[in-house]
Amino acid sequence: MPEESILTPRQMPRTMEHFERTKRGDTYYVLHNPDKKSYLAIDEENYFLWEMMNGEHNLTDLAIAYYQRFGSLPLERLDTLIHQLEANHLIETQKKTVNPDIETGFVPLLTNLADRTYQREFDWNQADKWFSRFYESIGHLFFTKVALFGFLLISVIGIICFIILEPTEEFQLFTFNEIYSYGLIVLLISGWIVLFWHEAGHGLACKFFGRKIHKAGMMFYYGMPTFFVDVSDMWMSDRTPRIMVSLAGPIVNVIIGGIISIFAFVLPPSDYTKALFQAAYVTYLIALLNLNPLLELDGYYCLMDLLEMPQLRQKSFDFLKTQLLPKLRSGTRFNREEIIYSIYSLLSIVVTILIIAFVLYIWENELSLMIHDVFTGQDIMAVILVGGLTVLAGSSLLIGFGARIILYLYRLHDHILKSREPCDPKN
Ligand SMILES: [Zn+2]
Repeated sequence: MPEESILTPRQMPRTMEHFERTKRGDTYYVLHNPDKKSYLAIDEENYFLWEMMNGEHNLTDLAIAYYQRFGSLPLERLDTLIHQLEANHLIETQKKTVNPDIETGFVPLLTNLADRTYQREFDWNQADKWFSRFYESIGHLFFTKVALFGFLLISVIGIICFIILEPTEEFQLFTFNEIYSYGLIVLLISGWIVLFWHEAGHGLACKFFGRKIHKAGMMFYYGMPTFFVDVSDMWMSDRTPRIMVSLAGPIVNVIIGGIISIFAFVLPPSDYTKALFQAAYVTYLIALLNLNPLLELDGYYCLMDLLEMPQLRQKSFDFLKTQLLPKLRSGTRFNREEIIYSIYSLLSIVVTILIIAFVLYIWENELSLMIHDVFTGQDIMAVILVGGLTVLAGSSLLIGFGARIILYLYRLHDHILKSREPCDPKN
């Protein structure tokens, strides 16, 4: 684009770099702006472009230099890179002339709604100080050999107890003492306690490896309140510590699930042991959900580090969208990356369909019964709980989705208008 060719990107001062070489000998770099707490992993080709961004070379210079070095023009690559660098506050660029409507008015509001309704954070800036104190006073004890051995023992015994209990308990996920509202309260409270310690596990592991916690707090994830700890500073560490920090959360789940299952097994059977079993069920479920590498959660970050392929998800879907079909048609061989991208993106789609089917199945079996019971029975508290949760999740989905559709229509309209304008002869 002609307007952008006058752009002369310049690295932000104080940017930090972390270099990593994979087992296959590829290299990549993590760029970090400590003021904005942002990180970006880039490959060697992009690093070549990044190194030239000293405020003296414009985009044309960068493209020519890239061509001389790698023998191809980095058209899309440069465009994507500039966007990523800008989004992560890693470069300063000269002011572009942009459509004034985009800068003011309803577009930023809609973008904000579309991006943040699904996931809204309420963070707490003292997180690092608090975690450091907790780590130094008590937390470091969790990482001693004795403690780790104890945790392993509890985890293994706990899972065995859980498996033995499962067929003997008349298990009902949503009720306690045959009352839905009590069952829901057990599920919610145990879920939140576990999520809190799950996140604390990531945070303590991050402190164990001596890195910073930029923020922590509560957030709404698709309308559901939950906790988070930002351990993105681990990007400045090596691969193994990073995998350990990703695993720390699910490991905490397995430990807590173990403790609860042991109690549920040892105590004389009653409604309370059933509630404990429910809590253990939720705890293990959250661990499994988090470990699933096809959702963008802990398991995904582990897989990405194990395969040594940053931005695996985004690149896989880009490959699926733009390259898979042409490649299949032309019949050329797939390289390692392309095979992984294909498997990852196709499996993600299959798993998404399976999750929807599973939700429908639960809906058919348990939820529809429950909703029928709730709305015809006397369990007012369950009506409030189910209604409240549905309104929270539903409204966040609707607002976010609605904002996205309006933005899309607006951009389409804007694009049609622009394409009707006559070409500027100077361009
Ligand atoms: Zn986690």
